[in-house]
Amino acid sequence: MTHDVHIIGGGLAGSEAAWQLARRGLRVRLSEMRGASADKGGERSPAHQTDGLAELVCSNSFRSDDSEKNAVGLLHHEMRACGSLVMAAAAKAQVPAGSALAVDRDVFSAEVEAALAALPNLEIVRERIDRLPHAGLTVVATGPLTAQALAQSIGVATGAESLAFFDAIAPIVYRDSIDMDVCWMASRWDKPSKMGGDTNDYINCAMTREQYTAFREGLLAGEKTVFREWEANTPYFDGCMPIEVMAERGEDTLRFGPMKPVGLDDPRSATPDFPKGRWPYAVVQLRQDNKLGTLWNMVGFQTKLKHAEQVRLFRTIPGLEQAEFARLGGLHRNTFLNSPQLLDRQLRLKRAPHIRFAGQITGCEGYVESAAVGLLAGLMTAAEIAGRNWRTPPRTTALGALLSHITGDAEAETFQPMNVNFGLFPPLPDVKKKQRKEAYTARAKADLGEWVGLVPV
Ligand SMILES: Cc1cc2nc3c(=O)[nH]c(=O)nc-3n(C[C@H](O)[C@H](O)[C@H](O)COP(=O)(O)OP(=O)(O)OC[C@H]3O[C@@H](n4cnc5c(N)ncnc54)[C@H](O)[C@@H]3O)c2cc1C
Repeated sequence: MTHDVHIIGGGLAGSEAAWQLARRGLRVRLSEMRGASADKGGERSPAHQTDGLAELVCSNSFRSDDSEKNAVGLLHHEMRACGSLVMAAAAKAQVPAGSALAVDRDVFSAEVEAALAALPNLEIVRERIDRLPHAGLTVVATGPLTAQALAQSIGVATGAESLAFFDAIAPIVYRDSIDMDVCWMASRWDKPSKMGGDTNDYINCAMTREQYTAFREGLLAGEKTVFREWEANTPYFDGCMPIEVMAERGEDTLRFGPMKPVGLDDPRSATPDFPKGRWPYAVVQLRQDNKLGTLWNMVGFQTKLKHAEQVRLFRTIPGLEQAEFARLGGLHRNTFLNSPQLLDRQLRLKRAPHIRFAGQITGCEGYVESAAVGLLAGLMTAAEIAGRNWRTPPRTTALGALLSHITGDAEAETFQPMNVNFGLFPPLPDVKKKQRKEAYTARAKADLGEWVGLVPV
């Protein structure tokens, strides 16, 4: 069968994209390397255990199903409204898990595969693809563990420096949970902002000697996540060494590294002799992470501390006592693009627009987010083939907020994979904090309704 679209990768994103296209009557070739014979490059990533499509490689949970107060629950709701295969299969495979949506992973994968196999214009081909096609509409959805030869081909097409093989994630904090009576805004040496004029780019949290010493001891003692066997050779690149490894290197290593106080006058210590204040003993800096200014990352704080430990320890930092984290730190093997730089607003490679990316390789993170970006890639490709203008989902919706983040709102310089969270949504500063989550979801649902109505079935 000749095809209209070639999808590479039959994981969460590729399966969802294939479904969205084929159920609209388009001819799809879906290439999946697992289950292929040796001469077709059959291979499994180190995390995959089966040959089933849409295999869940770790937890069996799609996280919260609460669409009133939770961003991922809202994303479930929106995907259902778009006729998502992943959500339909999850409903059939659901197992009890309180307010979370958890599934029997084998039933889930079998449901996805059966639904796809039943579509006459969809061909599932067990083969590994080693090169980006030169022509023909293509969706690349090969995930965080993309096979090596294809990853190299993507590296050549995008510029190797724009394709990461590991994420080194520093925690990201919601701006409105930072105590600005304790922290202050300043750039080191009051250097002018690259954005023009303003010298107050960073949020600074000052530490005394005692606070710094206790914090360093906390880092040393804190429980760390161990690397999986196949991640054991994860390199620590310059500039992304975990803070606990830096802490091990010496008492002052952090004070000469990410917690350097030099050039940061603390206004709270101002005296007639030092009207701008003195430098503190150590400083934790946070830098704006998205254009909306709602998310701030802890500069240089990539870590393998366990999540609960991160929350406990980072809340001992002055000004972060009430911090809410949009995501916590981590370091994993993960192939992903610098999407804000490389992709257009429709997930197409700017240099080769016949290639579209979907799933975790675009820099979203999580099963649901990956499937959601697959769904969007499917809808975009269908619109392109039909010659229709693509209408982007409103950025007030979870789909729109996630897409905006990947394709432009995130800072390209510091881009790291991201889960869906309310920090990606346009803020609602006039709504009281306690009611804000419900307000975000109510606005999203109202705005989604109109948009979904305009998506051709
Ligand atoms: C070890 C690990 C654990 C994770 N745990 C969780 C978790 O618990 N919860 C969560 O929400 N997220 C988790 N994630 C993150 C992520 O959301 C999942 O990896 C998710 O499956 C990504 O979906 P995807 O469709 O982008 O990629 P995948 O689901 O990985 O699908 C990619 C597919 O492409 C195929 N493929 C790769 N290269 C080629 C090629 N060259 N030719 C043909 N086929 C190819 C692969 O075999 C695979 O089937 C985890 C990631 C990893 C690596």
